[in-house]
Amino acid sequence: MQSHKKITIAIDGFSSCGKSTLAKALAFELGYVFVDTGAMYRAVTLFCFRQGWVNKETVNQEAIINGLNEIEIHFERNKETSKLEVFLNKELVEREIRTLEISSLVSKVASIKEVRQKLVVEQQKMGEKGGVVMDGRDIGSVVFPNAELKLFVTASPEVRTDRRFKELIISEPDITREEIRLNLEERDHLDSTREESPLTRTEDAVLLDNSDINQQEQLDLALELVRERMNG
Ligand code: C5P
Repeated sequence: MQSHKKITIAIDGFSSCGKSTLAKALAFELGYVFVDTGAMYRAVTLFCFRQGWVNKETVNQEAIINGLNEIEIHFERNKETSKLEVFLNKELVEREIRTLEISSLVSKVASIKEVRQKLVVEQQKMGEKGGVVMDGRDIGSVVFPNAELKLFVTASPEVRTDRRFKELIISEPDITREEIRLNLEERDHLDSTREESPLTRTEDAVLLDNSDINQQEQLDLALELVRERMNG
C-alpha cells in the first residue's frame, strides 16, 4: 500500500484474540515496525520467576521493583524466519515466555505500576517516529493515546481457547483445553480490573470481532480503516 504519512496503529484486546497475528500482518503489508508488548511483560515475568520473586503462591513486589534495573529486553529479527524475537538480557527467550506457567504469572507482574512505567517508556521510544503497529492491553489508552488508528480486537471465549490450545499442544502435549480456558479467563479478569492502566476499550477504538471471519478477512477490514486514516 502506498502511503504518504506513517501512522501509529494501536491494537488492544483480550488474551488470545489474534491481536499479534493481525498486528504482524498489518506491519508486513505496510512496511511498519511490529511491537508485541505482551512479549515484553512475559520476558520480565520470566526473569522474576527465575529469581524466585513470583510463583503460584506469592509475588514479591519489593524485590521485583528493586530488580527492574537488572532487566534489559530487546527484539531482533530472525534472519531465517524473518520473525521478530524477544531477548531477555541478550538471551533468546521466545519459547520460554510462551509456556502456560509464565502465562499464569504474567498478569500479576504486569499489574505492578513500576513494571508498567519501565515498559511504557520503552514502547513509546520504539514508536516515536510513527510507522508502528503495537499490540497489547493499554496501547490506545496509555502508550499511544493519540494513535491515528485504534483497534479493539475480540473473539468468543470458545474460539480463543481453541486457538491457544492448538498453539500450545505442540510444545506442551499434556495441556488441556480446560487449563487454557481458565488461564484466559483469569488473565482477562486481572487485566481488566487492575488499578494500573486496566484493559479497556477507548471510545475512539474500532471494535473488531473476528470469531467468524478468517485472518485475511480481518486484515482486509483493518487495511480499509488504515486507508481511511491515512487519507483523513
Ligand atoms: O499479549 P499477551 O497475551 O502475550 O500478554 C501477556 C500478558 O501481559 C497479558 O495477559 C497482560 O497481563 C500483560 N500485558 C499488559 N499490557 C500490555 C501487554 C500485555 O498488561 N500492553
